[in-house]
Amino acid sequence: MLTTTAFTDLSAEMTGRVVTPSDPEWDATRQVFNLATDLRPAAIALPRDVSDVVAGVGYARAHGLRVAPQATGHNAAPLGALEDTLLIDVRELQEISIDPGAQRVRVGAGVKWERVAPQLSEFGLAGLHGSSPDVGIAGYSLGGGMGWLARKHGLQTNSVTAIELVTADGRAARVDATHEPDLFWALRGGNGNFGVVTAIEFAVYAVEDLYAGVMFFPFERAGEVLHAWTELAPTLPDELMTWASLLQFPDTPDVPEPVRGGSFAVVYGAFLGTEREGRDLLRPVRDLGPAMDTFAVVAPAALGDMAMDPPDPLPIVSANALLRDLPSAAVDDLVAAVGPDSGSPLAMVQLRLLGGALGRPSPGAGARATLPGTFSLFALGVPEDEASAATARAYLDDVERAVLRFRAGHYPNFVEEPADASAFFDADTWARLRNVKALYDPSDLFKGNHHIPPAEPGASAQGRSAS
Ligand SMILES: Cc1cc2nc3c(=O)[nH]c(=O)nc-3n(C[C@H](O)[C@H](O)[C@H](O)COP(=O)(O)OP(=O)(O)OC[C@H]3O[C@@H](n4cnc5c(N)ncnc54)[C@H](O)[C@@H]3O)c2cc1C
Repeated sequence: MLTTTAFTDLSAEMTGRVVTPSDPEWDATRQVFNLATDLRPAAIALPRDVSDVVAGVGYARAHGLRVAPQATGHNAAPLGALEDTLLIDVRELQEISIDPGAQRVRVGAGVKWERVAPQLSEFGLAGLHGSSPDVGIAGYSLGGGMGWLARKHGLQTNSVTAIELVTADGRAARVDATHEPDLFWALRGGNGNFGVVTAIEFAVYAVEDLYAGVMFFPFERAGEVLHAWTELAPTLPDELMTWASLLQFPDTPDVPEPVRGGSFAVVYGAFLGTEREGRDLLRPVRDLGPAMDTFAVVAPAALGDMAMDPPDPLPIVSANALLRDLPSAAVDDLVAAVGPDSGSPLAMVQLRLLGGALGRPSPGAGARATLPGTFSLFALGVPEDEASAATARAYLDDVERAVLRFRAGHYPNFVEEPADASAFFDADTWARLRNVKALYDPSDLFKGNHHIPPAEPGASAQGRSAS
């Protein structure tokens, strides 16, 4: 282990800062979105430009450290122990350029969706962001990125057109479909295992009509609502994305008045079409008589915080599953586990409709091309202490038990604990990822939050010459 004073050499090489455990800002700098995560790297480098990243990567390599790249820290929990690791935190790479005519965006790797989505909306465009504007474009895109327009346009990672990064040998590169295509393929799904991304370029989409909003039902009606929604959702066209959640809001001043302290069964929708068509499609749910209904014709910017995700860091325990199906009996099991009579403290149990473009590999896609299944399930608790964390985990286990037999796979962006990343890919994709890793990072310098180790020497050559 290096002493903290050793990082003064790196500081001298960089324009940006290096923060070590002896610095007063250490705790604030290492804090991430999930307050239950206690990141303790050897030091944190905060590059201001590409040459700072080159310096950080070179320094780590020369001193026998590993490198964990990070943008916002929204999914840092799976990183686990970071002894002998330099965290390269790109939060200060904040460049944005938007070409509305070409429908292309290039952002520095520290940019969050909240800085881009409202600007795009002014041009009648939308990026494929997810439920929270606070999430970073880099980590979201490198892991997949399942958002409001995903059934029409697929995972965000498939819309990435070029990635700029610093590789393990300290080289600044720009990779795309024709330049180092193997690396470009692996980055799109392989997250932080292949280099420190400094900028990312992606396609965005014209939105002519958008009818979107949320229907709130009393929590007691959770069973009825989820039955109606799970029957309707798989029949809907790709233009309509819909989610259904059981939400229990805290009674705190940051939560808006109409929902503060309340519990609800809610149905969300974002429809790329007219209000009349959208109303027709959602009629079976609306006929149940929501207590509050915010659906309206909106600009794309309205999707930014429509999911009402918490904006500020908080302690989180979570569970997730991609589901082949969710038949009526499983809905009953889920409602029994976390519905109105369960005593569940979980803040959110969310189902998202999959299918459409999420299930169709697009030409030239990367390692994470599609997601299997009909529904994604994500549940989370916000415990205040160890005892409430244990209670929340018990309810999360009940959620997993209720749907276990329908599990079709995992979605790594929603896996918020250390996990075996081989479970996230089919065997061929996993082998190819490991081969690309062996080519570009044979000494395993980079530690993504879901780790992909290099192939052993002599392993199958699959992927090495793929384009
Ligand atoms: C409130 C909330 C809402 C969410 N909603 C959605 C959603 O709707 N849809 C969805 O798909 N996901 C969603 N997610 C999950 C989100 O996509 C992941 O947490 C994602 O990893 C966050 O990326 P980040 O850059 O913000 O976080 P980080 O923790 O900074 O990054 C996560 C990982 O990405 C890699 N990475 C990040 N930056 C770089 C870089 N510069 N170079 C190389 N690798 C890098 C690293 O492996 C890193 O550990 C949500 C998460 C939260 C907390």
